[in-house]
Amino acid sequence: MKITIVAGARPNFMKIAPIIRAIDDRNRHNKKLISFRLVHTGQHYDERLSKIFFQELGLPEPDINLGVGSGTQAEQTAKIMIEFEKDLIQNPTDLVIVVGDVTSTMACTIVAKKLNTKVAHVEGGIRSFDMTMPEEVNRIVTDSLADYFFTTTSIASENLKNSGVKENQIFFVGNTMIDSLYFSLDRLKRPKVLDEIPNVNNSYFVLTLHRPSNVDDANKLWSILKAIDQHVSKSVLFPVHPRTMKNLRVFLNDLRNIKLIEPLSYFEFIYLLKGSTGVITDSGGVQEETTVLGIPCVTLRMNTERPETVLIGSNELIGDDLNKLKLALTKIETGHWKRGAIPNLWDGSAAKRIVDVLATLN
Ligand code: UDP
Repeated sequence: MKITIVAGARPNFMKIAPIIRAIDDRNRHNKKLISFRLVHTGQHYDERLSKIFFQELGLPEPDINLGVGSGTQAEQTAKIMIEFEKDLIQNPTDLVIVVGDVTSTMACTIVAKKLNTKVAHVEGGIRSFDMTMPEEVNRIVTDSLADYFFTTTSIASENLKNSGVKENQIFFVGNTMIDSLYFSLDRLKRPKVLDEIPNVNNSYFVLTLHRPSNVDDANKLWSILKAIDQHVSKSVLFPVHPRTMKNLRVFLNDLRNIKLIEPLSYFEFIYLLKGSTGVITDSGGVQEETTVLGIPCVTLRMNTERPETVLIGSNELIGDDLNKLKLALTKIETGHWKRGAIPNLWDGSAAKRIVDVLATLN
């Protein structure tokens, strides 16, 4: 069986790495080989958002990098489609695997289906029901075309059934991002920055922000940062996504507790999360990782496509209500945050389940 695996942006790399390891494992013990071609669309090209993850997660060099780079939503979608179409025509495959909800996920799904190639979506079915999020559009388009769906939760499976997907196309396997989290735990790296900031001593918050709804309007971004900065009694380490940096430079000198740092490698970032008092974020993956690590997580969004992290885990949504943010920070600092539990099948073996299913598809 021949498979093409697509990845393009930071949150994709931790989702594909365990799948590739599970394919390699299976091939070592099984005569019926699954061969794969790895396509990097080049949506993220910055070394700190791409290459470092290949090194740490032991990913093979991509067979091709489509080199699409940055652009508007439409420019990126178009460039990925043009380049991936050429690649797929030259390298036909039995199945294209896409992961997550980035532009590459959607663009490559459309290309594959137009070339009559089957598509499997890893992390299918999650929904924020918020059409202002570019990722929600990516999810809906991808899931309306894909043939097979590997879901992280039973809620995601239900969302798919409610939109007309047949039960025999859906495989509830768990979460490959959490496979990578478990993989990282005995490989963690202490970020140098912890030695450079006075009085950090494992008592700090972590902040990540990159959703357009929080960072594209400089005034909104500043009001969030000011509220956090004034209402914590310890350092807040903020690895800054390049998208956010644009709007931040002007404010740098006015912040007391928030420390802007470069994006961290995966093993460094998980080290930081694991040792933190609490996390403030708008990231999808970070909501899941904090739930598994049992770290208090405050999500600066009105909704989440990962409701289990709130219903079962250690995450709370506070929207853009800065009073709620202050209350949440106090609750964390005084040790009154809920404890949370780990959702079903987030156990480190999702990729193995996916590969077991793949082996039955042909
Ligand atoms: N991450 C990282 N270094 C950082 C910040 C985040 O390795 O400096 C990881 C984080 O552990 C998670 C992923 O990046 O696995 C989340 O990516 P992002 O927040 O960009 O995307 P989202 O999950 O919101 O789609």
